Amino acid sequence: MNRFKKLCCVLGTVFLLQGSVLLSAANGQESKIVKKYLAITESIRKEGLLHGRAFAMLKELTTQAPSRLGGSSGAAAAVELTRQMMQDMGFDNVHLESIIVQRWVRGVEEAAIVNSAAVGSVPLSVCALGNSIGTPEMGITAPVVEVDSFDELHKIGAGAKGEIIFFNRPMDPTEMNTFRAYGGAVDQRTQGAAEGAKVGAVAVLVRSVTTSLDDYPHTGMMRYNPGVKKIPAAAISTIDANFLSDLLKQEPDVQLHLKLGCKNLSPVPSANVAGQITGTEKPEEIILMGGHLDAWELGTGAHDDGAGCVHALEAVRLIKKLGLKPKRTIRAVMFMNEEFGSSGGREYAVAKERKGEKHVAAIESDRGGFLPIGFGVGGGEKTLRKVQSWFKLFEPLEMYWLRKGGGGGDIAPLAKQGTVMLGLVPDDQRYFNVHHSANDILHAVNDRELELGAIAMAIMAYMLSEEGI
Ligand SMILES: [Zn+2]
Repeated sequence: MNRFKKLCCVLGTVFLLQGSVLLSAANGQESKIVKKYLAITESIRKEGLLHGRAFAMLKELTTQAPSRLGGSSGAAAAVELTRQMMQDMGFDNVHLESIIVQRWVRGVEEAAIVNSAAVGSVPLSVCALGNSIGTPEMGITAPVVEVDSFDELHKIGAGAKGEIIFFNRPMDPTEMNTFRAYGGAVDQRTQGAAEGAKVGAVAVLVRSVTTSLDDYPHTGMMRYNPGVKKIPAAAISTIDANFLSDLLKQEPDVQLHLKLGCKNLSPVPSANVAGQITGTEKPEEIILMGGHLDAWELGTGAHDDGAGCVHALEAVRLIKKLGLKPKRTIRAVMFMNEEFGSSGGREYAVAKERKGEKHVAAIESDRGGFLPIGFGVGGGEKTLRKVQSWFKLFEPLEMYWLRKGGGGGDIAPLAKQGTVMLGLVPDDQRYFNVHHSANDILHAVNDRELELGAIAMAIMAYMLSEEGI
């Protein structure tokens, strides 16, 4: 063996040794954690599965405050209801934090009728998009031009003047992560009206951003651009989007009549709701769990995001019920107004009463109440490795992974303060079937899956409170 080879061998052995030392250190850490906490985390799991309250709480929320669009009387009822729930469950420091929210109302009138020479007048299943202006009282009647992207629209340019633009690009069904597929289609909903107005369109109709082929329109927020004319925007069900697309191939000059009664009113006061278990050793260090209390009012917001709210409530309740005394403060926050631009989350992050508090970590649940499969964890490699060393505590829940990711619209503003962002990740294959539609109701939520999400949140929050990050 020459000297170079010898050196390589020696170095290789050193690296191998170092590697196995690191590996065994990691294993050692993992088994220490399991030894210390498994009995506790198993008691959380069993308590939740035997005596869980998540579904009962969601039932109460969705029946007592079924319609919770920001600024509505239903949203105000949800604030009062969840404040009362926290108080009844004996949370500490239960309080409201006032914010001002935009107030948009759908109005009674929502209709689209296509007038075809071949099939006559056919009503289409549509709904206004959030923040859209209404049509004039008589409605708008215009020819329709179908596009699947802004590029295609810009190519048509002035040719679309005076027309209703029909954006018809579906979510990519081959994308396994449905949130990514949603991200690939939602620009039509959020920016379609602004892009349409630039070429002189009179309104836009957007294929519902859903994985489902059904007759329910899915609403959601849209935005206007400053200096660009505001035109009305509506979503159309996927079945009717396919129908309209087929019809346009046969009758390109078909006329569509659109009538929307929606409008923006003056902003109104509302509130975030917070309650906690105060930490015994580091009460000023906060582990936050949250979801958003407001919801689109076509359904009852059972998955989006009633589930996230009760995940946080139930997680705190479970920890209290078992008499655990976390070192750091574990706080549940019901954020207001996520659907209309996350003002609740922004206000929370800068609220004066936050002074002296340090938000160590925040966990958002805003991906529905389906079976929890993992957590996304922000904050860099070291943080990720630390949280991953707790994985065995989540194995009894049959969760698959703890990996890089995390965050959410409500907690995002805390990231500037160095708060580590985490996110509960339930199975997402069915979420966009119901998302922002009349099908987002309690019946679409499985009580056991919902409870497992709350248990997972409780275990993660408890571990963060004990071990820090
Ligand atoms: Zn949501």
